[in-house]
Amino acid sequence: MAWDFETDPEFQEKLDWATEFVRDVVEPLDLLYPHLQYHPLSDELRPIVDPMKQAVRDQDLWAAHLGPELGGKGYGQLKLALLNEILGVSMWAPIVFGTQAPDTGNAEIIAHYGTPEQKEKYLQPLLNGECFSCYSMTEPQGGSDPKQFTTRAHKDGDEWVINGWKFFSSNARTSDFLIVMAVTNPDVSVYKGTSMFLVPTNTPGVDFERQIGLAGETEEQSMHGLIHYNECRVPADAMLGGEGQGFAVAQTRLGGGRVHHAMRTVAVAKKALDLFCERVLSRTTQGGLLAEKQFMQGDIADSYAELMQFRLLVLYTAWEIDKTQDYAQTRKNIAAIKALTPKVVHDAVWRSMHAHGALGVSNEMPFGQMWWSGPIMAAVDGPTEVHKITVAREVLKGYEAAPGLWPTAHIPAQKELAREKIAAWIEHTVGNQ
Ligand SMILES: Cc1cc2nc3c(=O)[nH]c(=O)nc-3n(C[C@H](O)[C@H](O)[C@H](O)COP(=O)(O)OP(=O)(O)OC[C@H]3O[C@@H](n4cnc5c(N)ncnc54)[C@H](O)[C@@H]3O)c2cc1C
Repeated sequence: MAWDFETDPEFQEKLDWATEFVRDVVEPLDLLYPHLQYHPLSDELRPIVDPMKQAVRDQDLWAAHLGPELGGKGYGQLKLALLNEILGVSMWAPIVFGTQAPDTGNAEIIAHYGTPEQKEKYLQPLLNGECFSCYSMTEPQGGSDPKQFTTRAHKDGDEWVINGWKFFSSNARTSDFLIVMAVTNPDVSVYKGTSMFLVPTNTPGVDFERQIGLAGETEEQSMHGLIHYNECRVPADAMLGGEGQGFAVAQTRLGGGRVHHAMRTVAVAKKALDLFCERVLSRTTQGGLLAEKQFMQGDIADSYAELMQFRLLVLYTAWEIDKTQDYAQTRKNIAAIKALTPKVVHDAVWRSMHAHGALGVSNEMPFGQMWWSGPIMAAVDGPTEVHKITVAREVLKGYEAAPGLWPTAHIPAQKELAREKIAAWIEHTVGNQ
């Protein structure tokens, strides 16, 4: 009987250390240095953050998403999920632990498809936490549907020339390099006609039109680049993977990224429930504690049950990836948790925020930012609808049409069949009476 819901004691010790470390040491960075986590460390921050990263390394928890060949410990996705449940409460924690998106996914595809030279130039500094990267795929006119992409790269001698527009390229302005997806052969299907390029951000022709911010962010805080690739020339060896492999590279990257978003969202939904419970036990109104009001009890029960359902599916999916070592085989559950993510966090935060009344919607509580991760999770790495379509397609693969006119559960036909199935038993019983 191999079903087991317990964590190895040694890894549990590491999780306990991480819980305390994030709460006592890393979360203060969120309050004192918000919005700076994706900027190169300033002279003020380096002496603070570098020792924190070292403390994480000393615990063998640095870059926990990586296998040993890349300097990680090869914990696998299940242990990573348990760790991300802790890191997801803090904006700075993924940086301090070396597991921040989009660098995790970018490192993964360079490790998978990069040449030795590309790995030395781009992967090693990324793994050392010395630089930032950007994934530049989505286009303003076509979203993330590669069939709509118009950014082109054509060969000119021994260079590729990239032309087109990309949008929502996160962290482009502070990145050292961009991974750009472009059409290299418009005459074949997009699944075979796109390629990926590694482009240093300071390459001439990487023109920032503007930085797009999320709602409420100032211009200074805005991090999502609208980029015009304008006659941007890169050498032939800037291609990541083979010519025409762009779509396959993108798929490799997005599978892991989606699971990691879901893992971190468990942390946000859990924090919302914790704050909710504290509030209802602290606040008295209309003759009693909020905790005694049935509306509140119903909401607590819903938040708890939804969190547990979601968490178990996330952990199961992580376990499934470890077992199969193949994102393609686990795409049904990856898509299912990605589709659930925005709703779970939205509902959990909404209930908790609402139970805090005016304080809940104020800038003196963290709910606004937590709640906003719902709509963000619904768009980032592909909209919810697209993931639901994937789930449905994968589920339907296990079924086939009813063989005749009636559904197989049609009771008259079932009765007929039931008689046939146990005819011998009926005859035996009747014969013996
Ligand atoms: C915070 C954030 C960070 C991001 N970072 C990056 C990044 O670093 N690099 C990058 O390349 N991209 C990034 N993106 C872009 C992200 O991948 C896209 O937003 C996403 O893929 C959807 O594209 P779109 O926004 O153009 O929406 P559209 O494709 O225009 O979709 C709009 C809406 O249409 C509906 N819809 C879409 N497709 C279907 C369908 N098949 N069936 C039914 N309804 C559908 C959905 O309701 C969807 O929300 C980021 C986005 C966000 C919000």
